[in-house]
Amino acid sequence: MPLELVTLPALSDNYTYLVHDSESGATACIDVPEAQPIVDAVTQRGWTLTDIWLTHHHHDHIGGVDDLLKVFDAKVTGATADRHRLPTLNHEVGEGDRFEFGGEVITVLDVSGHTVGHIAFVASESGFALTGDSLMALGCGRLFEGTAAQMWDSLQKLAALKPDTLICSGHEYTQSNARFAITVDPDNADLKARIAHVNSKRERNEPTVPSKLSDEAATNPFLRAADPAIQANLDMIGAEPVDVFAEIRARKDRF
Ligand code: ZN
Ligand code: FE
Repeated sequence: MPLELVTLPALSDNYTYLVHDSESGATACIDVPEAQPIVDAVTQRGWTLTDIWLTHHHHDHIGGVDDLLKVFDAKVTGATADRHRLPTLNHEVGEGDRFEFGGEVITVLDVSGHTVGHIAFVASESGFALTGDSLMALGCGRLFEGTAAQMWDSLQKLAALKPDTLICSGHEYTQSNARFAITVDPDNADLKARIAHVNSKRERNEPTVPSKLSDEAATNPFLRAADPAIQANLDMIGAEPVDVFAEIRARKDRF
């Protein structure tokens, strides 16, 4: 049985996810912007939260951990590299680590860039990756701590996952990401179609995440730095993809 995945909006534009194994009853939440939506969603389903997985130390991803631990006695997993700035961890992980959850192997990837020490959790059998503020729908996290090269490496790791992997990212930023994406990739028909789809979802107040990795590969400019049309558009034909990525990221920061 694949793990069940639940997408929950929290705060103004964050997402948290529940991952549930019906056989063992194990339930994890990924990042805790605030406790209440998680408590409500878990109890409504008759579940108990057993695990908290943290992608990075920013307050909008960990701010609700203490409140959540008052309700559930959950095991907290996060990056060894960030132990000094994460809530107390019961389980420390890093690049390439694997651990079992509900009969499935979860793989940890270091996806530094937005922060150094940012990790992603990959459930390859069930087909999803929890990417926090690394790879996002039509975007990627701002480079607060890492370099463009670090983020580019991180995105390559995620881009190498199976094409139908669901990318579960931490924010509803997709419409603003789309407004930028079309400026660097204006002739991309897949991007135009996706933007229309995203806009109609938001009109109905539906989440635009998770998104499929193959859709990101076709439309997310931060994964497409090697694309000839984007390179031509940026006047960077033949440049190293990492340099094109850095330019795209810089333009987004100014956008
Ligand atoms: Zn963040
Ligand atoms: Fe965030």
